[in-house]
This record gives sequence, structure tokens and C-alpha cells, in this order.
Amino acid sequence: MMAEDVPPPPPTTSEERNDPENTAEENDQLQSRAKKLKLNAKEEPLEERLHEILCCAVCLDLPKSAVYQCRNGHLMCSECFNHLLADAHLKMVSSVCPSCRTLISKDLCVRNLVVEKAISELPATCSNCSMKFARCLREVHEKQLCQERHTWCTFYRIGCPWNGPFKKKAEHEKRCAQPKKDGTEIKQAIPNMFSPVKCGGRNHLCDYLSFEKIAYNDLQFLGPYRTDEYYVRFETFRFCAFGMEWEVRAHVNNNETDPTLSCERTLSYALLLKESVDRTIYMHYTVVKGPLGEMKLQPHIEEFKFSDETPESHYALLPLKDSSECYKLLSGTIRFRLIMFWDDSAFVINT
Ligand SMILES: [Zn+2]
Ligand SMILES: [Zn+2]
Ligand SMILES: [Zn+2]
Ligand SMILES: [Zn+2]
Repeated sequence: MMAEDVPPPPPTTSEERNDPENTAEENDQLQSRAKKLKLNAKEEPLEERLHEILCCAVCLDLPKSAVYQCRNGHLMCSECFNHLLADAHLKMVSSVCPSCRTLISKDLCVRNLVVEKAISELPATCSNCSMKFARCLREVHEKQLCQERHTWCTFYRIGCPWNGPFKKKAEHEKRCAQPKKDGTEIKQAIPNMFSPVKCGGRNHLCDYLSFEKIAYNDLQFLGPYRTDEYYVRFETFRFCAFGMEWEVRAHVNNNETDPTLSCERTLSYALLLKESVDRTIYMHYTVVKGPLGEMKLQPHIEEFKFSDETPESHYALLPLKDSSECYKLLSGTIRFRLIMFWDDSAFVINT
């Protein structure tokens, strides 16, 4: 091929390319963007420029766990993704990508493992000693290796109260008095470890398991529904326990008018007796994850006296860890196991 036939090389930056097909305004924009790019390249380190590229399109933070992308490739951290799906679900609209408005759902979006791995290699600072590490190594360093990490004396369990930075632990333990103490002294130092408060939960559970009648049902919430009285409500199908019909209802943020206006998200539930009874039914009940559910709940027990006058219990807060756990539930199907303890002789547990 003759040298004259070789087409001229394409312009390398948009600054050099005043495309005659563009309007003057478009060319100005391109030039200012090119200048910005050159500035960025000079002043911002690579990791900061990557931060801008790999960050979540919603919260602008680097995702800490799973990264999802819409069909056009916009990235969202799993918390924001669940938040978007949950809010759309509550508003009864389709959820869309905040960047390009294309539909998003658990089926339409995929994880982006390359971005997740790239983020795990970006540098992060130890919160104790300010050393820099790849993100994937930071947790191991902070919890197991950092010399500045907070730690307790090895003899903490037999009553030594010392705690401080790891680098001073060996020095303390050389002169720690605890292992030299005799049994009586140690016994006095650890009264709290085996206190009734700590064992109370388990004893309690044994009491409940001794109830005369116990029933459990694996349930799932339908909804959300809107009524005049409730802004958004979830409810289960009616189910049978102890030969009676029951239903569970739930509402979001204590039945706040528009829960999507705040970032806090809670779910409260109530148990409803759906038929007439000839006496008072003293019921203890709890919600647990169950074999199909995803709830991460603290142990809790509710109690209520059901009768014809009071067929609906109070709304009890589902003890979830935080709002993002609640978003996770609200973004999909909410499944759980309800366990009911009925002592027909109205035996009352002393709490
Ligand atoms: Zn986010
Ligand atoms: Zn998008
Ligand atoms: Zn450190
Ligand atoms: Zn000690």
C-alpha cells in the first residue's frame, strides 16, 4: 500500500476534533470536557479516578458487597438496589434505573463480578493505624493483624478488666495478676458471666416449649395493599392454628403516610383472630426466619389476650438489624415462620 493511501490518523482527543457536523455549543462542551479530563489525569491519583467510575450510581460510594447493573450497565450497590426495588414495590410502580430509567428487577439485573473484584483491589485505610491495604485485605488486617487493634487480656474470662491496643497486650500479660489468683478470688471476679440474665433467654424458651399447645405456620405476606386506614399494608392468607382461623398483617414505618420519604424502614406485625370465640385466648407468639425466609431477626416473644372484643393484637416491631435488612425484605417476597404458644390453663410466665 502506498503511503499516500493511508488515511490520516483519527484525532486523539476531542479538543483537536472540531467536528464540522457539531454545533458551536457542542464543540465548546467537548473541549471543556477534554480540558477537564487532562486536568484530572494530572491531579487525581488513579484510585480516585477509578472511584468515580466504579461507585454506585445512587449513593456514590464504593459498593462494599455485591454490585448490580442495569441492562445498560449502570452500577448500583446491593443496598441501593434493594432500596429502589423496595420503594417501587411500596409505591406499586415499576422500579427503574436512576441513571437511564430502564426497568430494573432481580431478574433483569445481573451482578458485575469484574467491578466487585476491581473494587476489592482498590486501596483502603486501616481505621486503627492508617496503613493502606487492598480493600479485600483490610478486614483481616483490622481484625487479626493490626498492632493498634483494640483487644482484651487473655485472662478476661476469669475477670481481668485490662483492654487496650494489641501491641501492649503481651507486656500487660507478663505482669497480669489474674492467673495467679486462687479460685475464691476468681469466683468473685466473674459474677456476671453466668448470671440469670444471660441464661434467662434459654430458660424462657424451655418454658414456652413446655406449653400445652404449640403451632407453627410457614407464611408469606401478600401485598402491599392500600386502604383508607392504612397507607401500605401486607397480609397473609388466613391460616389455621389450634382449630381457629388467623391472619398476620404488617405495615411499614409504623403506618407512616409515605414511608418512602425517609431512609428509615421498619416492619411491624400484628396477629388477628378471624373467628368468634367463647373465652379469652392468652397467646404467646414469635416470628422466626423459617426454612424459606430471609429475615435476620433478634429473638423476641409477643403476647396478647384474644377475645371477641379484642380480635387484633398490637403491632409489634419486627426486630431486624437495620433499615437495609428491611429493604432486603421489602424488595422481594416476605416469608417467615410464625410460632404460637397457647397455654389453655392461662399459665403466666414470670418475666
Ligand atoms: Zn449505593
Ligand atoms: Zn441504567
Ligand atoms: Zn492497622
Ligand atoms: Zn490481664
